[in-house]
Amino acid sequence: MSTIRRGFTCLFLSLFFQGALLCPPPALAGGLKRPVEHKLSIELKPHLGTLTAEDALTLYPGKWNEPSFVFLLHGDFKVDPVEIPHQGDWKISATKTRDGSKPINRIEIFKPTNNNWPDFIQFKFRYRGPYRDLQETGEQNSVENAHTVFLSQNSLFYPVIETGNASPLIIFEMQTTTPPGWEVVSEGKRISHIDNGGRISTLWKCDDPMEEIHLITDRYHEFRGRWEDIDLQVFLRSKDPELAQRFIETAKLYIPFYQRLIGSYPFVKFAVVENSEQTGYGMPSFTLLGSQVIRFPFILHTSYPHEILHNWWGNGAFVKTEEGNWSEGLTTYLADHLMQDLKGKGDRYRFQELMKYKNYVSKKNDFPLNEFISRTDMTTQAIGYGKLVMVFHMLRKRIGEKVFLDALHDFYFEHIFKRAGYQNLQEAMEAHSRQDLSTFFRQWISSKGAPQITLGKVSSQKTKTGFQLDFEVLQNQNGSTFDLDLPYIIWSENNAAPLIKMATITQSNQNFSISLSSAPRAILLDPWNEVFRQLNEGEVPPSISQSFGDSQSLIVIEENGEQALQGAYKYIASTLNGKKDTEADWLEQGDHSVWLLGHHFQKNQPLLKWLETKGIIVKQDIIRIDGQPYSLKEHSVALTVPHPKSPRHSISWILLHSAEAAKGLARKLPHYGKYGYLVFKGDQPTNVAKGAWPANPKGRLHRFSNGPLPLPEQKPLVDFRPGDPLE
Ligand SMILES: [Zn+2]
Repeated sequence: MSTIRRGFTCLFLSLFFQGALLCPPPALAGGLKRPVEHKLSIELKPHLGTLTAEDALTLYPGKWNEPSFVFLLHGDFKVDPVEIPHQGDWKISATKTRDGSKPINRIEIFKPTNNNWPDFIQFKFRYRGPYRDLQETGEQNSVENAHTVFLSQNSLFYPVIETGNASPLIIFEMQTTTPPGWEVVSEGKRISHIDNGGRISTLWKCDDPMEEIHLITDRYHEFRGRWEDIDLQVFLRSKDPELAQRFIETAKLYIPFYQRLIGSYPFVKFAVVENSEQTGYGMPSFTLLGSQVIRFPFILHTSYPHEILHNWWGNGAFVKTEEGNWSEGLTTYLADHLMQDLKGKGDRYRFQELMKYKNYVSKKNDFPLNEFISRTDMTTQAIGYGKLVMVFHMLRKRIGEKVFLDALHDFYFEHIFKRAGYQNLQEAMEAHSRQDLSTFFRQWISSKGAPQITLGKVSSQKTKTGFQLDFEVLQNQNGSTFDLDLPYIIWSENNAAPLIKMATITQSNQNFSISLSSAPRAILLDPWNEVFRQLNEGEVPPSISQSFGDSQSLIVIEENGEQALQGAYKYIASTLNGKKDTEADWLEQGDHSVWLLGHHFQKNQPLLKWLETKGIIVKQDIIRIDGQPYSLKEHSVALTVPHPKSPRHSISWILLHSAEAAKGLARKLPHYGKYGYLVFKGDQPTNVAKGAWPANPKGRLHRFSNGPLPLPEQKPLVDFRPGDPLE
C-alpha cells in the first residue's frame, strides 16, 4: 500500500507538531480527455458519523483503452445499484473488498461489448452509512465534545476512479446539508450558504482541476476579509475575532508578495481553517491548522507564509510524484529561506540545513531527491526540504536571480492545475538560461551524496606587480567527483573591500592562482554556505541533533541521584536511541555520542571546563549563562558539548528539575535540534533560554595574518518585501 500523500501538502512546522500520516489509495494515472466531473449532494450527520449522498459523475473517456471503469467507495456505505442513463447493455459488478484493514465497495462498470466508449458518460451513485473520518477519535462526535470532521479522497466518501498510476484530475460541485452550526469548507468557491436557523445548506464549486475533494466540517465561527478579488475566510472553533483578523491581515501581506514573486494567486478564496487535531496541512485554497498551532504568534510569519505559498507549489502546480516531490523544497526555499534571506540571514539558514544533512543523513539512509515523496522523519526532511533548498540556491546562483524567477514564473503558468516534475522544471530553467543543465540535475536531483570540500595547500609570494596567491581545492568524499561553482573570498592588506570570486570545480584536486595588488590576509571557501556539501569535521558546532542523530549513542543515568527523578530519567532514556552504559566508563568510549541524564557525574570535569569557555558555569544548584543565573531546582537544562575524546561525537547532558517535566521535555527536545544549550521552566516545560555554539570554518579557511575578516552582506533574491506597496 502506498503511503504517498497527494492533493495536500504538509505544512512545515519546525516546532511541536508533525502532520498525521495518512494512507491514501494507490497512486493512479489519467488518460481521460477531460477532468472527471462530480456533482455531489451530501447530507451529513456528524453526531452519528454518517452521511447520505448522491453523485452524478460525468466521464470523458477519450482514448480510454480499458473495457471498464472501477470506482471505489468506502466499504461501510450501503450502495444502491448505479444508474446509467446512457443507452446500451452496461454490465455492473459490485463487490466488497479490503485494502488492509479498510473495507471497500468496488464497483466495476463494463461498456457494452463491441461498442466504443461514448464521448461522455454519466453515472449516478447513491450511498449512505458511516463515513470514514480520518480524524475519528473513537469518541462520539457529541454536541459537547465535537472534533473536526476530515474527509478526503482517502475516506472514499465520493466515488474514486481506480487507474494505473496518477488518479485523473476532477472538478466538482458539492451541495451539503449539515445540522445547525456545522459549517462545511472545501476547495473552490462557496456559491451559496443558507442558514435559516435550522439545517445549513452549502454549495461549494470548483471549476479548476483538483487532485481530490476535501470536506471539512465543524461548528465554526466564520470571519471574512478581502484582498482585491480574493475572499479571505477564517473558520475558528471559538469566537476569536482578533485571531481571525491577524490571519486576514497577514494574508494581505503575503498573497501580494507571492503574486509579485511568481504570478497570480490561483484561487478565488483563501481560508484558514482550525482543526481540533494538531495538523498543519495545506490544501488548494485553504489551510487546516491545529487549534494549538493556530494560536502560536510566530506561526504568522513562519509556517503561515509557507502554507500560503503552497497554493502555487504543490496545490497550484501539482507534483508528478513518480519524479519525486519538488514542492516542499521549493516552497521552503521561497518561504522559510527567503524570509531569512530578506533579513540578511540566508547564510545561517543554509548552514542549519547543511547541519541537518550532516547529522541525520548517512551513506546507509541517503537517497536522491527524485525519490523523495514526503517527510516522515529527520532524514527525509534533511533531504526533501534541506538539500533541495540548497539545490535551488545553487541553481539561482548558476543562472542568476532574474532568470531563475522568470523560469519559475513560466513553470508555474505552464503547469497550473497540472502535474509537473523535475523534467519540466529543468526544461523551464534551460529555456530561460540557455544553459545545458543536465549535469546539474543529474548530479543533484537523480543522484545521492554530497561533495566534501577543503582547502589544500595555500601559499603566497611577492611578484613584480604585487602578490600571487596559489591554493588548492580538494573534494574529499568517497565516490564520484562533483561539478560545482564554488564561491570564495580573499581579504588583503590595505584593501578595504575583499575580493569575491567563483571557482569552477570539476575535479577532486584543483589548483588556482590569483594575482593580488597587496599581500593576502586570508582566504575562505564558500563564505555564505551556498554549496550543498558535507560539512567538515569540526565545522559543525555540537548540538543536540548530533546526539539524536547517533543511533549508537551511550545512555548513562546518574547512579546515586535524587530518588524522585530516577523514574523520570529512565523515561527519557526510553525515548532515546542507544544503549545503556554505566557511570564508570562512558568517558573512555570515544566512538559514540553520550547522553548523560542526571545532576552529578564524577567525570564531567572536561564538560564543565568546555562550557566555561563559552560563558556557562554550572555550580551546585545554579547554572549561569553569560552571567544570568537559573536555579536548577526550577529549571530543566540540556547542554551539548563536543566529546573530549572524539570531537566528531557529542555529549548531551540533561538535568531535570522535576519528574513531571520529563514527558514534555522528551517530546520537545528533538525540535530544538540546532541548539547547544537549552533551559526550560515549569512542568510543561517552557523554553526560557536557548543558544547555538558558533560555527567554525574548519577546512575552508587559511589565514596569513590575524585580524577580523568581515563578510560583506549578500543581496537577497528580491529587493521587495511582504507589505511593500504594490508597484
Ligand atoms: Zn510544505
